[in-house]
Amino acid sequence: HAKEKGRNNYQFFSTSMNVRAVERQVIETNLRRALEYQEFVLHYQPKVNLKTGKITGAEALLRWMHPKWGMVLPGRFVAIAEACGLIVPIGNWVLREACEQARRWKEAGLELDTITVNISALEFRRNDFVEGVRTILHRTGLAAGCLQLEITESVLMRDAESSTIILKQLKDMGVQLAVDDFGTGYSSLSYLRLFPIDVLKIDRSFVHDIGSSEDNGIIVSAVIAMGNSLKQRVVAEGVEVQAQLDFLKALQCEEGQGYLFSRPLVAEQFATLLVTGIPGTEHPVDGQKGVF
Ligand code: C2E
Ligand code: MG
Ligand code: MG
Ligand code: MG
Repeated sequence: HAKEKGRNNYQFFSTSMNVRAVERQVIETNLRRALEYQEFVLHYQPKVNLKTGKITGAEALLRWMHPKWGMVLPGRFVAIAEACGLIVPIGNWVLREACEQARRWKEAGLELDTITVNISALEFRRNDFVEGVRTILHRTGLAAGCLQLEITESVLMRDAESSTIILKQLKDMGVQLAVDDFGTGYSSLSYLRLFPIDVLKIDRSFVHDIGSSEDNGIIVSAVIAMGNSLKQRVVAEGVEVQAQLDFLKALQCEEGQGYLFSRPLVAEQFATLLVTGIPGTEHPVDGQKGVF
C-alpha cells in the first residue's frame, strides 16, 4: 500500500514538476516575442511627501499585456525573464520608456522630481550597464537627477564591494539611487554607510504590520531614525491604511507609496493625478476629509 502511495506521490510530483516546467517554457516563448509585439506597458505609482501630500515622483512598474492572458504582473514573469537573460532587453526598454515619459511630462510643465525604475540583478552586474544608462539619458534628454534607480538590498549585498563601485559610477553621473525592499536583505550596516545611496525604501511587509505587531513598528522606526541620521530619504512602501500613515508621519518618515494614495496608474491617469493632486490633500475646503 505504502509503495503504491509512494509511487502515486512520485507521479504526482513529477507531473506537477512537468506542468511547472512547461508553464515556464510557455511563458519564456511568449516573452521572446513580447518586446517585438509591443506587449509591455508601464504603470506609474505616485510617491507622496508625507508632510504635504504632494506627489514627488512615480515608480514605473512593468506590466505585460498578453493578447490571450490579459495583464500579467511582474511576479509571474520577471524571474523567468532573468533566468533566460531576456530581462536585459526588457529592462532596457523599461528604462528608455520611463525616461522618455518623464521628459514628456516635464516638457508639458507637469511637476515631478523623479521617475523611479527597478533594476534587476542581471542588469546591474552587466559591464555595459552604467554606459547604457548614460546613453538612454542622453537620447531621451532627461536630466540625470530626475532618474532614480531602485536596486534591492539583497542584490546590493550579494557582492557589496563591486556594488559600491557600480553605485559610485551611477552617482557620479548624477542619478539618484534607492535601496528597494529594505529590511529583507540582511544589510551590513558598514556597507550601507559606504554605499552612495539617496533613498531607503522600507519593505512593505514591515509597513503592513505596523500597529498589529509591535516589533515591526520598532523596525520601521529604527530604519527611519537610521535613514534620517545617515541623510538618506526614507520611503515607506505599501501604505494601505490611515493608521500606518499616522505612524509614519509621527516618526518623520519623508515619503510613502501605497494604495492609500493610489494604485499604479496608466500614464494618462498618472498625469491627471499630477495635476489634481491626491484627493483631499490640496483642497481641504472641498469638504473631503483628506488622509493627511
Ligand atoms: P517593488 O519594486 O517592491 O514594487 C512594489 C510593488 O508593490 C508593486 O508590485 C506595487 O504594485 C505593489 N504595491 C504598491 N502599493 C501597494 C500597497 O499599498 N499594497 C500592496 N499589497 N502592494 C502594493 P508589482 O507592480 O506587482 O511589482 C512587483 C515587483 O516586480 C516589484 O517590487 C519589482 O521588484 C518587480 N518589478 C516591477 N517592475 C519591474 C521592472 O520594470 N523591472 C524589474 N527588473 N523588476 C520590476
Ligand atoms: Mg521598487
Ligand atoms: Mg520595493
Ligand atoms: Mg517590494
